[in-house]
Amino acid sequence: VDAPISSHLNAVSAASAPFVRFLMTSTWAARRAEGDGCDFVVGNPQEMPLPAYVDAIRRASVPQDASWFAYKLNETVPCEAAAASLRERLGVAYEAEDIFLTKGASSALVLAFSTVLEPGDEVVFQSPPWFFYESMIAFARGVPVRAPVDRATFDLDVDAIAAVITPRTRAVIVNSPNNPTGRIYPPQTLRRLAQVLTAASEEYGRAIYLISDEAYNRILFDGRRFPSPTAYYPYSFLVYSYAKALLTPGQRLGYLALAPSMPDRERMRGAVLAAQYNGFGMPDAVLQHALPELEHLCIDLDQLQRRRDLLVDALRAQGYEVHAPEGAFYLLPRAPIADDNAFVEALAARDVFVLPGSVVELPGYFRISLTASDAMVERSIPAFAAAIAAAGE
Ligand code: PLP
Repeated sequence: VDAPISSHLNAVSAASAPFVRFLMTSTWAARRAEGDGCDFVVGNPQEMPLPAYVDAIRRASVPQDASWFAYKLNETVPCEAAAASLRERLGVAYEAEDIFLTKGASSALVLAFSTVLEPGDEVVFQSPPWFFYESMIAFARGVPVRAPVDRATFDLDVDAIAAVITPRTRAVIVNSPNNPTGRIYPPQTLRRLAQVLTAASEEYGRAIYLISDEAYNRILFDGRRFPSPTAYYPYSFLVYSYAKALLTPGQRLGYLALAPSMPDRERMRGAVLAAQYNGFGMPDAVLQHALPELEHLCIDLDQLQRRRDLLVDALRAQGYEVHAPEGAFYLLPRAPIADDNAFVEALAARDVFVLPGSVVELPGYFRISLTASDAMVERSIPAFAAAIAAAGE
């Protein structure tokens, strides 16, 4: 008998193919388990978690009443803690009723798409993108549409976004602080984006939503403040993950939040809830109970910044051209040869593993995750020097 698989998955798989291929077939994939290399590939922890994180999870695992492990929806206590944190950090009047708890930012993105997309609706995202935007949009039966960022400054190119908007555009994803560029989009850019989206929504007679992926909104360097794109445009969703601030991406916790400015908010709340029930993607009870404590924790940003500075200075001294981030935790050096894949392999031969820029539509670059340990950073510096010297020969 035939055992069909949804043909739709072909397009979905094709869209995530470059990253998945790297995950499955690179030298890093083959050798990472050996554990003695310097692993800068993805934002995974390389050291033990924050002790306060472990304590919070331990406390939350001990039942205090008979319903401790009962089905959990968007429970009031964690949603209030999340909303209070957004009010305090972003200066935007988020309310507990507008927080929809999810298994990380990925589930929050899927929830936003399920809430607003009709099949065939276009969703605009920026290139270079996060790995899964294109495949997730396709998975939600939407049509992925790219708009390049400004390649000189890595700021949003609002004109490029305006140029790809059509009557079928239903949403625009903005990711700030950005993975992989580390840019934090400034208020003047966000105001221009809001003007463009407002004008296009009016012209076509239906709202274009802004989906603000703020997974890194606490990972800020040099004392910067984070302007949330959701403060500038009414039809906004905020996507958040606890994976980055706590460096615990396997503990799936995040949320989708409706901006307080969202028109007809009651109706939208009902729609998100309906989408959320079908799949029951709420986070597990233990993480929900722990959330109010987790809100007050964050990895050591001073240490992360010192690591950024040490690597940026060392690589520049060796002759690399390096783009240093304002937020999020990735460095983007230029590969000293045109073929970034070949250069990444040359580094891998020296036990240093990084992500080729080609995987995120940035050929000629490579990405270093600062979540590596200080010991890995120390060990990697002579290898980076040897690789650029060999490239010049
Ligand atoms: N969005 C961006 C920009 C990311 O970098 C990531 C994780 O790497 C995600 C979303 C997904 O986050 P989560 O692991 O919470 O699903």
